[in-house]
This record gives sequence, structure tokens and C-alpha cells, in this order.
Amino acid sequence: MLSYQHAYHAGNAADVHKHAMLALALDYMARKPKPLTYFETHAGRALYDLAGPEARKTGEAEAGLARMERWFAPDHPYARALAEARAQGGASAYPGSPLVARALLRADDRIVLAERHPQEVAALREALPLAEIHDADGPSLALSLTPPDPRRGFLLVDPSYEVKSEWSAIPELVANIRRKWPVGVLMLWYPLLASGAHRELTAKLAAMGPEGVARSEVRFPPARAGHRMIGSGLWLANPPWGWEEAARALETRFAALKP
Ligand code: SAM
Repeated sequence: MLSYQHAYHAGNAADVHKHAMLALALDYMARKPKPLTYFETHAGRALYDLAGPEARKTGEAEAGLARMERWFAPDHPYARALAEARAQGGASAYPGSPLVARALLRADDRIVLAERHPQEVAALREALPLAEIHDADGPSLALSLTPPDPRRGFLLVDPSYEVKSEWSAIPELVANIRRKWPVGVLMLWYPLLASGAHRELTAKLAAMGPEGVARSEVRFPPARAGHRMIGSGLWLANPPWGWEEAARALETRFAALKP
């Protein structure tokens, strides 16, 4: 049984990195007047409450978004997604990746989401009533539904890495999907851990080669003493124009963070 719940971690420094770079990519892709498919293998519940007991228990959003929101001007796509979530859920609402996508995509774009935790699936259905939501194993679903229709599109793979085998299975998954859907923009998120457990995954990504791929890694002070996550990484196939430059600018912000 899976125990990970993103409500404890929503709005943390890794979410700021992942969601800001996701928002920039989708904003750019939505400028072309052609519908697209947005697909997620590990969707979570989409709408989070940063004043709720889970977020307050870990203090991760306090160490993350609360310190970092000033980095984003009101017209930045991430700031626009934050504003839309707050309009929907109140001042302490936070948009998970499906709501970041909903905020930046158009009505005729297709949103397909997989999530395994029954509680999260129920919340997801409430937050995005018009999306195609599957109570299913995200990686298997992505392999069976790609290439999607419309073929133009974006896939986010954002596992919780609760199962040790994911460190090797997830890079293999993105390699397989890339073969099936060479024009898809594929984004994979991974944590940087004090233990170095992520190195198996990063070595496999490096072995896949740099052609057509952008990477972004940031480090940040641990949210609390002993916190294992010390950074966040993104691997992106077919990066939209301007994404890498924006990534370098955000990396500079993270590098200047004081403990
Ligand atoms: N992408 C979300 C966001 O940025 O807002 C956060 C997702 S969270 C890191 C990972 C989610 O994957 C959890 O909600 C967990 O229940 C779900 N999950 C774990 N294994 C899964 C699987 N095999 N298929 C689909 N969802 C899974």
C-alpha cells in the first residue's frame, strides 16, 4: 500500500522548481493555436491547502513557496496558476501540477491524469471535473496511451520514489515513451537526496544522451534538520523554446538562497 501523500510536501522548494518550469513550458506550448494533450502519470490531488495540518506539520511550504513567491512577477505563468488556484480554493490554496496545467491550457486541450491513491483520485475528480482521470498505474497507462491524440503534447512523470525499483524503472519508462512518441515533450522530476540514492536514476538519464534534452537541477537548504531531500531535478525531452534560459535564471535564484 502506498503511503506517500503530497499534501505534506505541496509548495515545498522542489514544487516551486517543478511547477514554475512546468508552467513556463505549457504557457509556451499553448501559444500555438493547435490543441494538445497533457498527460500525467502521478497526478496527486491537484488542490492543496497550505494552511492545513499536513503542510503545517512539515513546514515545507514555509521553507519553499513562502520564501520564493517573490521571485515571480504577477504575469509569470506560475504566478498566474497560483492566482487561479487561490480564486478557486481561497488564499491558502496551492495548485498541484494538474491545476497548473488547467490554468495554462485551453478548453479544447485534452487533460489525461493517472493516480493510484483512492483518496487522491476522489479529490482530483472534484478539482478537475472535465479531465480524463484514471484510477490506474500511471506508467502502464502512459505506455498504452502514447502517442496520444492530439499527438502534440506534454507528459509529466512525477513519481514519489517510494519503491526502490523506481530509480531504474522510471528512466526506462521515459526512454520507452520517447521511442513511441518522439515529438512529445516529456518532463521527468526526481529528488536529489542526501543519501545519493538518486544517482542510479541520473546515471541512466545521462546514458540516454543529451540530444534533444534539457536538464535543470537546483539545491536548497533542508526544510528541517535531517530532511533527506536537498535538491530537485528535471529532465526534459524536446524542450520548448526559451525553457533552458529560464531554467538557468531560476537556478541562479536557488543558488543564492541562504540557509
Ligand atoms: N504531480 C503532483 C504535483 O506536482 O502536484 C504530485 C504527485 S506526488 C509526487 C506522486 C503521486 O503519485 C502520489 O499522489 C501517489 O499516490 C501517486 N502514485 C504512486 N504510485 C503511482 C502509480 N503507480 N500510478 C499512479 N499514481 C501513483
